[in-house]
Amino acid sequence: MINSLLIANRGEIACRVIRTARAMGMRTVAVYSDADADALHVRQADEAVHIGPSAVRESYLQGEKILAAAKATGAEAIHPGYGFLSENAEFAQAVMDAGLVWVGPNPSSITAMGLKDAAKKLMAEAGVPITPGYMGENQDPAFLAGEATQIGYPVLIKAVAGGGGKGMRMVERAEDFPDALLSCQREAVSSFGNGHVLIEKYIQRPRHIEVQVFGDRHGNVVHLFERDCSLQRRHQKVIEEAPAPGMDAATREALCSAAVRAARAVDYVGAGTIEFIADASDGLRADRIWFMEMNTRLQVEHPVTEAITGVDLVEWQLRVASGEALPLSQDQLSLRGWAMEARLYAEDPAKGFLPSIGRLELLLFGGATGGRIDTGVYQGAEVSPFYDPMIAKVIAQGATRNEARQRLGEMLGGTAVWPVKTNAFFLARALEHPEFVAGQVDTGLIARDGEAMAVPPHPSAAAMRRATRELISNQPLAGFRLNSEPARSAIFLLDGQATEIALEGGGSDRPAGSTLVIDQGQAWLLAPWRQDGTGGSASSDGQILSPMPGRVISVEVSAGAIVKKGQRLLTLEAMKMEHTLTAPFDGVIAELNAVAGSQVQVDALLARVEKEVQ
Ligand code: ADP
Repeated sequence: MINSLLIANRGEIACRVIRTARAMGMRTVAVYSDADADALHVRQADEAVHIGPSAVRESYLQGEKILAAAKATGAEAIHPGYGFLSENAEFAQAVMDAGLVWVGPNPSSITAMGLKDAAKKLMAEAGVPITPGYMGENQDPAFLAGEATQIGYPVLIKAVAGGGGKGMRMVERAEDFPDALLSCQREAVSSFGNGHVLIEKYIQRPRHIEVQVFGDRHGNVVHLFERDCSLQRRHQKVIEEAPAPGMDAATREALCSAAVRAARAVDYVGAGTIEFIADASDGLRADRIWFMEMNTRLQVEHPVTEAITGVDLVEWQLRVASGEALPLSQDQLSLRGWAMEARLYAEDPAKGFLPSIGRLELLLFGGATGGRIDTGVYQGAEVSPFYDPMIAKVIAQGATRNEARQRLGEMLGGTAVWPVKTNAFFLARALEHPEFVAGQVDTGLIARDGEAMAVPPHPSAAAMRRATRELISNQPLAGFRLNSEPARSAIFLLDGQATEIALEGGGSDRPAGSTLVIDQGQAWLLAPWRQDGTGGSASSDGQILSPMPGRVISVEVSAGAIVKKGQRLLTLEAMKMEHTLTAPFDGVIAELNAVAGSQVQVDALLARVEKEVQ
């Protein structure tokens, strides 16, 4: 068995791996960047090694530095987590060449699943159903157009080297095919250095269903049933569950044994996931579920599988990497109950899900029977702009789907994070969506209906009463607007917005200090309103404030310039996303502080537009 393990990752997954490694008696070594010097995974590990600046390409993607850290600390094995170097075959090979144990599959398995066309061919040969389409060598545009017609529109053109949702074009009509092909090839060459494409039947209302597989070095391969990850926002998973709703035993058997065949075809060792796409327009049917890709690592959503099987997947990874056989055979594995996981993100649904970064002054998780929180942060920690802004995975289980769903809702509703904004309320709303409740989710649900779910909630009257009671002391109320007794109200600032709140109880009340209103998974700052208060909306007075910390990448106007309402003033970049700020009304640039290339804090005054005086 491995005695000491280096975790080449950060955040919740590093903490998750440390937990099991420690329980198995291993010494744990963390690696960290500048931004992560105080991170939870660093605090939890027995030892920690600094590997470079905050940017991932200078730290967590630096295989050499990670190998040096393993050497310096005497670590015998490296667990890559997910993301970063976890599916990098060269790094896996370098770890083994350095005489260390790689907690993952053989590099050849990673490579075999790397290109979409080669992976599909391999799967077809192994008897795994693949999405109908063309995946051959011939890249002649006229030939490909002919294939598309034969497959039948709509079709999807995919770059064989594509990933992360990039390099795909959906085409509905034959006349649009040539242009879509050219643009897909251009993107493929510039992003992946490989212009080859394949063509697939485009599945309407697709469901994303994946199977957890596990192999060892003794030729055993088992599956640990399926997960359904159909609730997605822009191809990113939002809520995952196991098992998949509507999956009957025969379909499950067909799907899971296809997944085992897929894993066997690449001599798979360790934890892996076979992703399938299902056309669920007529329920889940075995002849309408096709191989999509294989993830050759531990998956973010692995806890739902752990909940329904009782298996600790990280423990299995470490045992298999040590050379042991799988602890259980296929017929010793069974699924029990239901589990659901929600990804709690530091982001603001009301601002188009922009990352919300900063210090977590308040971090409270709601509890529920059978609840589990996997997090990589603590109260007082920073959500930094350098990494994925996930705060935690919130996992609930129950005897039935409905029980798990309700418990997850309770956990999300009891969550409170401040001043960083989260998607807790959005997640709780998604759980209540009638189609989700009915187990009929397809990957497009949030794109169709998500706007309603992203509406920011208002604190309930009961929560406001609790908070104002806390705020108010029995002193004469001065400077607050009073209605006639007994129905009195006062103006408060609720997250900076002036709000009139009815006061209860007798006597004249005077708010002092500030407090948080905690309700429905959200937290609001409630403070007394002062005449010089900073309430009101930022744009109505022409102030262009930075909505988040980030970098100014371009400034499109100069001081004194005349601008039109909606005109682009400047562009910010944060978390690799661009955010354009526009003029709130016609006017003139009265103040310009933004400089291209500079870093800005949240709420920094970037520019001010003044209405033009006629
Ligand atoms: P990537 O490697 O970029 O993640 P995938 O091939 O895994 O690309 O596909 C990403 C997403 O695109 C899937 O999760 C699914 O939502 C959608 N998708 C993929 N193939 C199809 C298809 N044939 N029809 C409809 N949607 C698809």
